[in-house]
Amino acid sequence: MKMWRFKNCPRCSGDTFIDSDIDGWHEHCLMCGYTRDLPAEAIAKSKAAPGGGNRTGSAGTSAL
Ligand SMILES: [Zn+2]
Repeated sequence: MKMWRFKNCPRCSGDTFIDSDIDGWHEHCLMCGYTRDLPAEAIAKSKAAPGGGNRTGSAGTSAL
């Protein structure tokens, strides 16, 4: 499963996507190739983010 995070790259502010493998979750930047590991807690937290709007997919993150 991939989750997109638009303009989330700390290096170039490019579009990034988050994907998982056996080692856990990783965030990749499409623009500059930046990669970082993400703690599972951060993923769970972002999925469960309060504030509504989860169904609209307009909050900058959408699941593919
Ligand atoms: Zn980047």
